[in-house]
Amino acid sequence: MIVAFCAPVVEAVLEVMLGLMGEFDLIETFFKRPPRHAELGVGDDCALLSVKAGQQLAISSDMLVEGRHFLSTVNPEHLGHKALAVNLSDLAACGAQPKAFLLSLSLPEVVPQWLTEFSKGLWALADLHQCDLVGGDTTRGPLNICITVLGEVSAQDALLRRAAQAGDDVYVSGHLGDARLALEVFRGNVSVPQAVFEAARLRMEKPTPRVALGLALRGLAHSAIDISDGLLGDLQHILKASGVGAEIETQQVLGTMACAQTAGLSQDDLLRFTLAGGDDYELLFTAPQHQRNAIAAAGHASGTAVTRIGKITASPLLVLLDPHGQPMPNSFASFDHFKTT
Ligand code: ADP
Ligand code: MG
Repeated sequence: MIVAFCAPVVEAVLEVMLGLMGEFDLIETFFKRPPRHAELGVGDDCALLSVKAGQQLAISSDMLVEGRHFLSTVNPEHLGHKALAVNLSDLAACGAQPKAFLLSLSLPEVVPQWLTEFSKGLWALADLHQCDLVGGDTTRGPLNICITVLGEVSAQDALLRRAAQAGDDVYVSGHLGDARLALEVFRGNVSVPQAVFEAARLRMEKPTPRVALGLALRGLAHSAIDISDGLLGDLQHILKASGVGAEIETQQVLGTMACAQTAGLSQDDLLRFTLAGGDDYELLFTAPQHQRNAIAAAGHASGTAVTRIGKITASPLLVLLDPHGQPMPNSFASFDHFKTT
């Protein structure tokens, strides 16, 4: 068993040592498996996929660049997981069922150990969601990972940003702010007990895409988005697309942070990390008030915590409320790759 598992890697190491491992051996060794949903997967000029009658393809692409999206010290298994997780999170936000993905990889060199671990993290998450790797591209260059995911959802079930309505409740899934806490510890701006850091680091390196929740919200939620750049910034996308505003209870948002109690952070840091932290990969969605019980049941059925954090208003403003229900200043900027202020 162990020999069978290790053989391709041992072979790969030998090939690299002899300078024999090329692009196609690399793809064959680490990224080729028979697809479950596709008619044709890795190895031809195109993959072939059919879509069920009445369904649409949901397509999304996300790139991870070393030094910008991850640190060079990241565990490669976590990186393989995260590269796919951030893409699956986009499918979750649309209520789409994952089917397949493409992997475009730029690598400085062939390191079998790194590729073994990277592909292990990637395959584990792909298997969990029955999502087939059906193609991609491989080239030499700075470490850069781009994944394109394909999912299925019908036109009437798709959750979009543009359908929030005044009076809707606003919800988030899971935990906000922990990933940003880990980043700030890495940057040396904050220090926390080691166990707290390890938990936060896992949230940053191994986010859980909320696919099951996204599927359970079909027919219940009016609008949805995944939180990748920070709660308030991503909420603004829903507000703008829907022509509405929101009142957000900051106390409810703070309560979602898993490490909040143990990290010993200032109130200001807690607010910044949860409201504008980034890298959370949680779902932010709105639903009519009469669906409260159904939303709670959807969270329960998908094993995902769901917290109501406010409501959608007709007036197109984003208002933050303090613990006493009073409006407070909003000085929280979300992440933007090109804005420097
Ligand atoms: P082409 O010459 O048509 O550009 P390639 O030589 O780049 O095709 O790739 C050969 C096959 O391997 C194709 O089916 C392609 O989709 C697949 N492939 C290339 N790189 C990857 C990768 N990193 N992961 C999965 N499949 C890949
Ligand atoms: Mg070709």
